[in-house]
Amino acid sequence: MERYAFLRWGQGAFDNFRLIPPDTGICHQVNLEYLAPVVFRAKKDGAHFAYPDTVVGTDSHTPMINGLGVVGWGVGGIEAEAALLGQPIIMLIPEVIGFKLYGKLPAGATATDLVLTVVQMLRKKGVVEKFVEFYGTGLSSLSLADRATIGNMGPEYGATVGYFPIDDETLRYLDLTGRDADLIQLVERYAKEQGMFRTDQSPDPMFSDTLELDLSTVVPSIAGPRRPQDRIALTESKNAFKEALPSLMRSGSAEKTVPVQMNGDRFELKHGSVVISAITSCTNTSNPSVLIGAGLLAKKAAEKGLKPKPWVKTSLAPGSRVVTEYLKDSGLLSALENIGFHLVGYGCTTCIGNSGPLPEPVANGIQAGDLVAAAVLSGNRNFEGRIHANVRANYLASPPLVVAYALAGSMDVDLYHDPLGRDSEGNPVYLKDIWPSPEEINETMRKSVRSEMFKREYSHATEGDDRWNKMPVPQGELFKWDMQSTYVRQAPYFEGMNKIPGEPKPIHGARVLALLGDSVTTDHISPAGSIEKNGPAARYLTNNDVLPKDYNQYGARRGNHEVMMRGTFANIRLKNFLAPGTEGGVTVHLPDKKQMSIYDAAMQYQKEGIPLIVIAGKEYGTGSSRDWAAKGPRLLGIKAAVAENFERIHRSNLIGMGIVPLIFKPGENLKTHNLTGFETFDILGIGPGLKLHQELTVKASADDGKVTEFKVICRIDTPAEMDYYRHGGILEYVLRQLLVN
Ligand code: SF4
Repeated sequence: MERYAFLRWGQGAFDNFRLIPPDTGICHQVNLEYLAPVVFRAKKDGAHFAYPDTVVGTDSHTPMINGLGVVGWGVGGIEAEAALLGQPIIMLIPEVIGFKLYGKLPAGATATDLVLTVVQMLRKKGVVEKFVEFYGTGLSSLSLADRATIGNMGPEYGATVGYFPIDDETLRYLDLTGRDADLIQLVERYAKEQGMFRTDQSPDPMFSDTLELDLSTVVPSIAGPRRPQDRIALTESKNAFKEALPSLMRSGSAEKTVPVQMNGDRFELKHGSVVISAITSCTNTSNPSVLIGAGLLAKKAAEKGLKPKPWVKTSLAPGSRVVTEYLKDSGLLSALENIGFHLVGYGCTTCIGNSGPLPEPVANGIQAGDLVAAAVLSGNRNFEGRIHANVRANYLASPPLVVAYALAGSMDVDLYHDPLGRDSEGNPVYLKDIWPSPEEINETMRKSVRSEMFKREYSHATEGDDRWNKMPVPQGELFKWDMQSTYVRQAPYFEGMNKIPGEPKPIHGARVLALLGDSVTTDHISPAGSIEKNGPAARYLTNNDVLPKDYNQYGARRGNHEVMMRGTFANIRLKNFLAPGTEGGVTVHLPDKKQMSIYDAAMQYQKEGIPLIVIAGKEYGTGSSRDWAAKGPRLLGIKAAVAENFERIHRSNLIGMGIVPLIFKPGENLKTHNLTGFETFDILGIGPGLKLHQELTVKASADDGKVTEFKVICRIDTPAEMDYYRHGGILEYVLRQLLVN
């Protein structure tokens, strides 16, 4: 309520600010189905203008709109805040990689299988900080929803944008989703006049580089257990799980089982037991073909008497209300509900760690056996610790495969040869017996996905329900902070700020707060999921009279910096090499090497006046565009992050919060310099004359007096970023600009 009241206040305090009430859908899907005009119209000084729709969003899956011919990408919340306050977004001109698609998807392969294939290929190619544009005759065989699925996973293949040009399918989709005939005409005319309209006869555009895929070679796939780019052909999934198991286990034998009793059922949990099976995430819930595929599979399974295994927590979270409309219309909503896939809401659920607790006997069984439990979800990210604290192996799969794994109840199955269960007469039922044909899916879509559903559902999209409309809303130009709120608090970024910024200074005598490995995600740095019962954030909430049952999630409490800074680096799977053998937000305070939480150590260093740094490996800050992954470290007192390389948005977020991102020289890292992280670090060369990409010297002094020097590159890339850094961060920069103007 406190968060919603804050947003409602904003609606009154700012011009040109629309608010879509909660429970309408997932932002990207609502943009795709309703908000995006593709071409904007404007009138200025008596003249009419048409110009392309563009968008930057504070969620990394914003490129989903690229499927509709709109250029858009994810930016950090910090950058977006500045854009909202009138600052330009400045970037280096990217290379554009052409991805040629030809042929047609074979029967049995879904858009999810295609996107997992695309992610794997583009990760291999290396498209970080590049734009990808899809072209070729294969585009004509892909529905707009399929294209949006591919655009959506841009961050997973590392690109800024995964663009599909405007063509007949774009116009058909605008019509299906109930956009005005006038607008559709404008989009067609504008794209054609500008030479941007694609047909199969269009000559291939010129690109910086290209790659290609024959769609007919795509096979049913899943991806996991930790990264979206680790695609596994479904034929190999059983073997792949067995191979991955040793790296996921902490103790005991691979054959370990734990007996569990629950609601009259007795069963055994083992490594690979699927405990979460979720049709979730905008990636797939915007795509009727895979949702209808899941519904048909559920219907056939129920007809054969199959049900998910009792230990599987099942859920359905569509990305918009239109989805429930067409699932109801086709009778498939009840089919999904019959086998446990009940509607849990319209929004970000399991894909962001919001699946809620597992049934206690299941959670206890997993803990008792230290089992590697699995989740199967139709999401886009499966990083460690993101989905659920009790789950170690996370697999991405199409919605029909999500249902299939719920029926099988284990990753240790070969879905081509092992039965999913037995029918009422005891005969084995295989996946192929209940897998819907493309004809069945297309026929159901043709009958049940209709334009009037989009028109009806979105005609009242901004209205909200009674609770929304009756909520007391603060008025006025300035928000009145409630000092008692544990959800929305005034953050301290501007405390003690001068009108004139100081000059950048070298960092002297810094200690390492966390020494991290490769692929540390923003989920590791600032988890969005549940708040650990015994951690610093829980202590703060308890001290503020919040009961453990009301802790809620970090994502819900991100309006309160007190919670978020205590949750920084608090991911239960974070491994800090300064405290080997531990997991979670643990470090050692130096030089005494006393083990404590990262938050407590940071507070102690602040008292001692010691600046902090974080050191990491490759792809530091990969994952969600989470601004708290930069805000939290800033509030902990981190002045620099040194890594082998950075994810694009995270690097920019760090600068936005006044933290300097530094990269090791190619092939170098802390180990190659024979350093442990227990040294004291000086970072020399930061000063008034700091230049873009300047080489800086790092001096590491060990306790025994040994001094090691090495060079790093300052990854401040643009003059605008340099301005932000000089001001101590983008927020300070924008505020000073407002004061000047
Ligand atoms: S959390 Fe899930 S549903 Fe929400 S935007 Fe991300 S992927 Fe989409």
